[in-house]
Amino acid sequence: MSDKRICPHCNTELESWMGPPETMWGEIFVCNNDDCSFFLSSNESLCDQGAKESMAVRYAVDPMNGDKPFNLLSWMPPAVREKARKFMESQGCKS
Ligand SMILES: [Zn+2]
Repeated sequence: MSDKRICPHCNTELESWMGPPETMWGEIFVCNNDDCSFFLSSNESLCDQGAKESMAVRYAVDPMNGDKPFNLLSWMPPAVREKARKFMESQGCKS
């Protein structure tokens, strides 16, 4: 039995995280890698000039639900946002 959970997008080991009590999530496992392609490409508004949103989603799984993957909404710090913008451009940003 292995407790290791790997992010399929960046092959980083997911980190255990306790969700806020009001979410009723309990323990979940999150990819905290700021270089994760899933995270960097999750803020599509980065492609838009006037994007003010600094929210993105991280890859996470819910052990209470058979390790079902879900999107964990996460704030994207300005430094990471810049990285994400570059990433999006390299992926062929439309605008
Ligand atoms: Zn990842």
